[in-house]
Amino acid sequence: MATVDVLIAGGGVMGSAIAYFLAADPDFTGHLQVVEPDPSYQFASSPRSLGGVRQQFSNLENIQIGLFGHHFVTHVDHYLTVDGEAPALSFREGGYLFLASAEGLATLRENHAVQTAAGAAIDLLSPDDLAARFPWIDVAGLAGASLSAGGEGWLDPFALLQGFRKKARALGVEFIADKVTGVRRANGRVTAVDLASGTRVAPGVLVNAAGAWAGEVAAQAGVALPVEPRRRMVYVFECRTPLNPPPPLTIDTSGVYLRPEGGGYLTGFTPPAEADPPYAGFEVEHHWFEEVVWPALAARVPAFEAIKVTSAWAGYYDYNTVDQNGIVGAHPEVANLIFANGFSGHGLQQSPAVGRAVSELIVHGGFRAIDLTRFGFERFAAGQPLIERNVV
Ligand SMILES: Cc1cc2nc3c(=O)[nH]c(=O)nc-3n(C[C@H](O)[C@H](O)[C@H](O)COP(=O)(O)OP(=O)(O)OC[C@H]3O[C@@H](n4cnc5c(N)ncnc54)[C@H](O)[C@@H]3O)c2cc1C
Repeated sequence: MATVDVLIAGGGVMGSAIAYFLAADPDFTGHLQVVEPDPSYQFASSPRSLGGVRQQFSNLENIQIGLFGHHFVTHVDHYLTVDGEAPALSFREGGYLFLASAEGLATLRENHAVQTAAGAAIDLLSPDDLAARFPWIDVAGLAGASLSAGGEGWLDPFALLQGFRKKARALGVEFIADKVTGVRRANGRVTAVDLASGTRVAPGVLVNAAGAWAGEVAAQAGVALPVEPRRRMVYVFECRTPLNPPPPLTIDTSGVYLRPEGGGYLTGFTPPAEADPPYAGFEVEHHWFEEVVWPALAARVPAFEAIKVTSAWAGYYDYNTVDQNGIVGAHPEVANLIFANGFSGHGLQQSPAVGRAVSELIVHGGFRAIDLTRFGFERFAAGQPLIERNVV
């Protein structure tokens, strides 16, 4: 049986980021392999993401992660340059704008206090401020909003994934086109991992970075991980009258969001729980746009009464069904099984901080830069979910 010090299941943005941070740490001298069944990433979540980077979360850890995410993408040349070439992330610092009704205002203010205390540059706006800054918004029913004053925006997600992968390979990481199909355990440890090719590997540490499919890999190890693939649909549209000034990524009180995309805009929403089964596939259902998304858009932005959908796609959120937060750290009873899962729609931007955190855990035995202890698997057994309120 082959041996390897660290085996990472899944070579999406999370697995590739973990591989990069490990390989870049001078204190890590081990052999590292990433197992990825689909090097084209056709169905992986990373390339299907919107590439949003923000600090407007409710949990301190997510805000700290978002601050590092912004630092990383704006200094990507320092981290990911290979042969003099840095990834072209096309980061656009367009901002995030969360709108609140009277009912949601207290939560918006509470979140804002945590965000600014953590060092994020976020402003609170009144409906009058909003109308003055963004005259295309209908402020009816709004009691306030929060808007980034720098540090939030969106980037090309595939460029970030490829940047991590390319740099990790340049540092000696091996990416293997294969699939984890079985995980054997004995005496509180993973002892062997079976791959689809028939290879069996004994890893010192197994990292589950299988994204939306992380629940399947965990189940192979006999662990019930509350992560499911949940389909999210994105619609791209054109509008005859462009919004001026261009919108930040704006999250309406209905949950429908919008932002600029090319010469037009894109939008999406969270389906109601009863219409949100796992493994729904990658087909786009256009009736949601007609029935839910467009009416909400047109109510908030009257110029969007006349729009035309030009394209659409769907992808899976790596959805944590308990509290919509990341699950990061070792399993309490399987010491060499580490999770980096369940990011529920914000894993792309969390890959730099989580990649660094998992590397710290493996190399130094604990978190250093950001304490992610509360993201541990232990919270499920303890019945102490860590709810993230700002899931878009
Ligand atoms: C429509 C949409 C919009 C999004 N917008 C944002 C956003 O604006 N900002 C943000 O931060 N995040 C966003 N996300 C979420 C983000 O894309 C994910 O959280 C992130 O990409 C997760 O990265 P990952 O590497 O864990 O997963 P993936 O990129 O899915 O990678 C997991 C990999 O594991 C592999 N795999 C599966 N099974 C196995 C196995 N048995 N063995 C080995 N490998 C396996 C898969 O082939 C896959 O390549 C969005 C997601 C979607 C769908």
